[in-house]
Amino acid sequence: MFDGNWVQKLDLSPRVACFWWRILKDALPTTDFLMNRRLLNYNCCPRGCEAIEKWDHITTSCYKLLQAIETVKKRGLIIPVFDSFTECCSQLKRIAKVKPFMAKLYCSLVFYSWKSRNSVVHDGQELGSCFIASTAVSLASILTKLNPFSGHWGAFQRQLSTSSWHPPPPGWIKVNVDATIRRSNVAGVGGVIRDHKGRFLCSFGYNCVHWDSGYMELVAFRSIKRVIKDWMVGAKVIIMEGDNANVIKYLQDSVFKVVHYEVDGMMEDFSFLMGFDSFIFSHVNRECNKLADCCANIALEGDFFWDDLCVNKIPPLFFSLLKEDGDGFIIT
Ligand SMILES: [Zn+2]
Repeated sequence: MFDGNWVQKLDLSPRVACFWWRILKDALPTTDFLMNRRLLNYNCCPRGCEAIEKWDHITTSCYKLLQAIETVKKRGLIIPVFDSFTECCSQLKRIAKVKPFMAKLYCSLVFYSWKSRNSVVHDGQELGSCFIASTAVSLASILTKLNPFSGHWGAFQRQLSTSSWHPPPPGWIKVNVDATIRRSNVAGVGGVIRDHKGRFLCSFGYNCVHWDSGYMELVAFRSIKRVIKDWMVGAKVIIMEGDNANVIKYLQDSVFKVVHYEVDGMMEDFSFLMGFDSFIFSHVNRECNKLADCCANIALEGDFFWDDLCVNKIPPLFFSLLKEDGDGFIIT
C-alpha cells in the first residue's frame, strides 16, 4: 500500500526492516487492526494516549516515541518529527538518500517504542525513554551489511565505565578536547581524534594567552573546526567530548537552539559539522580525558598538529596515555 523501497535501501537491521515492512503492509497488530478483525473491543493506544492506535499514531505521535525523540535531541542529535504517517514516509524516503543515519535512527526509535508498547501490553512495564533512545542510536549506528555481529551496542550508552575512555560506535569518530592555563596566563588547548577501535587519527594543540579556564574549554571545542579534514566527514557521526560540564551544557543548549531555529544573542557556529550525519557533545570525567589534557599541556609550549605517530616529535607520555586508553576497552 505504501512505497517501501526506501526501507530496503536503508541498511536497517533485519528486525527493524521487518517491523517497517509490516507497518507499510498494514500487518502490525495494533489495537485498531485487532478491533477491525473483531479480536478486540477497543482501538485506543494501550499507553493511554487517547488516540486510535494505527500507523499514524505509532510512527509519529505516540507520547513515548515523542519522549524518546526529545531525549535524542537533548543529546545533540538532529532528528525530525512528523505530523502524519504520509509525511513520515515521504520525508524518510527523502532523508534516507541524504542523511541515512538520521532515517535509520528514526526507524529504530519507532521500532523500540513499539517494543516497549508490547511490554506494556504483555508485562505492564514500559521501557525508559533514555533506554529507547540509547538503544536506537546504537542500533542505527551499526552497519548491518558490513558488520552484522558488531559488539558495540553499548557504546553510546552513557559511559559504562566512567573511569576509562570509551570508543565511539563503528563508523563514528570521537574528539576529546581539553584546556589548561598557567599562572602566567599562558594557555593551551588541545585534542585528539580517534576511531571506533581507539586508533589515533590526529592530535592538535594551540597556544594562547587567557585567564578564564571555562572560556578556554570552549575555545578547545571551537578549535576542532581548524582540524576537521574532508576525509573525516566520511564518518557518520562525530562525538566531541570534554570534562567541563558547564561548557558541554552550553554547547548542547546551543545545538537545541539551532535545531529549533531559536535566535537569541550570540549563536555558536556549527556549520563546520554539517558534513556529518550528526554530531554530539558529551561530558566525561577527567579520568577519561587524560590524553586531551596531555595535548593541552603540550600546547603550552607551542602550536602543533600530528597526523601520524612519529616517535621523534611525540612525547612518551602521549604514547603511554594512548595505550592506557586503548587497554581500557575490548573490541569484539
Ligand atoms: Zn500512544
